[in-house]
Parts: sequence; structure tokens; C-alpha cells
Amino acid sequence: MSLTELACKRVQELTPYQSARRIGGKGRIYLNANENPLSINYELDSGCYNRYPDCQPEEVLSAYAAYAGLEPQQIMVSRGSDEAIGLLVRTFCEPGKEQILICPPTYGMYSIAAETNGIGVVKVPPREDFQPDTAAIKAAMEQNRVKVIFFCSPNNPTGTIIDEKILREMLEYTKDRALVVVDEAYIEFNSDRTVVGMLKEYSNLVITRTLSKAFGLAGLRCGFTLAAPEIISLLLKVIDPYPICAPVAQVATAALQPKNLEIVFERVEMLNRIRDTFADRVAKLSFVKKVYPSSGNYSLIEFTDGEKLFDFMKQNGIILRDFNDKPRLKNCVRITVGTQEEMNQVLEAMEKFEK
Ligand SMILES: *Cc1c(COP(=O)(O)O)cnc(C)c1O
Repeated sequence: MSLTELACKRVQELTPYQSARRIGGKGRIYLNANENPLSINYELDSGCYNRYPDCQPEEVLSAYAAYAGLEPQQIMVSRGSDEAIGLLVRTFCEPGKEQILICPPTYGMYSIAAETNGIGVVKVPPREDFQPDTAAIKAAMEQNRVKVIFFCSPNNPTGTIIDEKILREMLEYTKDRALVVVDEAYIEFNSDRTVVGMLKEYSNLVITRTLSKAFGLAGLRCGFTLAAPEIISLLLKVIDPYPICAPVAQVATAALQPKNLEIVFERVEMLNRIRDTFADRVAKLSFVKKVYPSSGNYSLIEFTDGEKLFDFMKQNGIILRDFNDKPRLKNCVRITVGTQEEMNQVLEAMEKFEK
């Protein structure tokens, strides 16, 4: 028996999440992972590393609670929001029997988290405008045992913000039978549209957040789950004992202080402006068919030949994210919003492609 055959059958059959880092590619400009182009420096106190950290460092919870306008008991901190997605799936779905529901094209980790745990994935295509199709979701829920629905708002990669009425309809429909998770990884780029205010109305609503995007701390690995205290307690039964390293807790706490939040939101405004001017300019190119309106720090663009554009840019040292093989996204490429200088270079390269 080979070592591969020794592994669980479902693991043998898995394809790991194709993260930007795993796909790789060498270039000068990386606009493939929705990272923030700017970093902020934080100081560390390394005199405490002989001790284990708290599972849920209090200072991090209270800093995030203050930022989100919630109580610390409504918050869980985890190793990125990816860990939270995995915990939600494992805490609420029975392997082999129950499923999650997603509306692709959307973030890839929901189905990976389910599949690695032997949990099924029900896929319900969204409407033409990329909003969830409530009738189709209800029909699918009648046929399956769905315990967790994942909506991503702003959606990665389309940039769509979920319609509040649709979300309410789904929350009411799923009351007492399933959780509705709204992944707000990019919500700082359109803060007004957070659904955090709905937590007090719907106990089955869960929101995931991260410091990886607007806060520019993807390398830190720090994410948050916002939900009813009862849900948080359940997740904390499943989480590892020490998910948050001491230096991570220090940096996260500093990043959430009001003075730093000001810097973060100034940069958010700057990136939004860069995105909007970039979108206007790119829309004028002859080989651009559609620029999706985006509420995130990225722009999804449909080209006449997306693969060719992607390869051309790569040859020019600019690494983007190709979505050509994803449902409804033929010829689409996602471009992270970088600095103004980087976006100028993207446009320059594209003008060369046009010739
Ligand atoms: C980037 C991203 C995440 C990952 O967040 P981490 O906190 O870095 O794990 C989660 N959801 C979506 C939609 C993302 O695009």
C-alpha cells in the first residue's frame, strides 16, 4: 500500500485551495491576491514568548468589539477568517449527512472547508445580477440538509454587495434550521453596507471579517467571527487551544486603535479612488467587454480574450488572477487595486496589448 493510499479516501481526491501563492508566478507587480499595497509598521514586545497565549486574547476581543460596535462575547478571533470558515462548517455540519450552500462564482474556501471535512456542497447559481436566487435556494434547501449558507459581500470576485431585502428573506426562511454566514472580508471598502446591525434581529446570522485586506495585514493571519454569544461558545469548543500567537495579538490590538483606524480608512478611500479611475480608464479599451461594478479593492473585468490578456500581462511581469474557468466568468480576470503607480503600469501594458 502506498502512503497516498493510506490517506483518507476523501483526502486522496481533494484538490487543495488554489491560493494566489500556490498558483505562483514571478513578476514585478502582484495584483492577484487582493492584498493591500501598503504596510504599516508595528512594534513588538518579545518579553512574553515563554508563556502560552490566551485562546481568545481579551485585549483583541475588546478592541474589535469597540471597532465593530458589539460586545466581546459576540466575537471570536481566529487564524484568519479562513479558520473561521472551517470552524463554522465543522461545528454545524454532520459529515456525510449535511451540506453547506454557496452561490458560485464566489470565494473558493467555503467548498474546500466542506470537502476536507466530508461535508457536501450544494451550489445554487445566483441571478443574472449576481444576487442570490432566493426561490432556487429555498428549493435546494427542501431537497437537502443544508446547515450553513455562505454569502460573500462584497463578493469575491464579482464585487457584488448583497441586497438587504434578499438577506432578510433568507435569514427568516432559515431561522431555526441553518446559519447564514455573510463573509465581510472586504466590507471596509464599503462600510455603510455592513450587516452587523442585523445581528440583534437574527440569531442565525454570522459575519466573518479579517485584518488581511483593508488593514493590510494578510501576513498576520488574523480574522474575526461576529455572532450571537451562543454560536461563539459553540465555535470555541472546536477551535484549537492557542490559535492566536502572542505577536499576532499585539499587532492586532495596535491595528484596531482609533489612531490607526484613521490611517486604515484614509487608505481605503485612496484605494477606492484609484479603483474607480482605473475602472473608468480600462472600460475605454477596445478589448474590454465589461467592468464589474466593485465594492472591494479589486476589479473584475471581462475581456474579449481573457486568457490571452492574462498571459500577456504575466509576460510583462504583472501577475493578475484568471477566472476564465469559473462559472459565468469566461474571459474574466480579477485585478487587485494596487498603488496609483502600479495601476498606471497595468494600463500602459494593456495599451501595448491593444496594439
Ligand atoms: C481573502 C479572503 C478571505 C481570507 O481571509 P483571511 O482572514 O486572510 O483568512 C476570506 N474571505 C474572502 C471572501 C476573501 O477574499
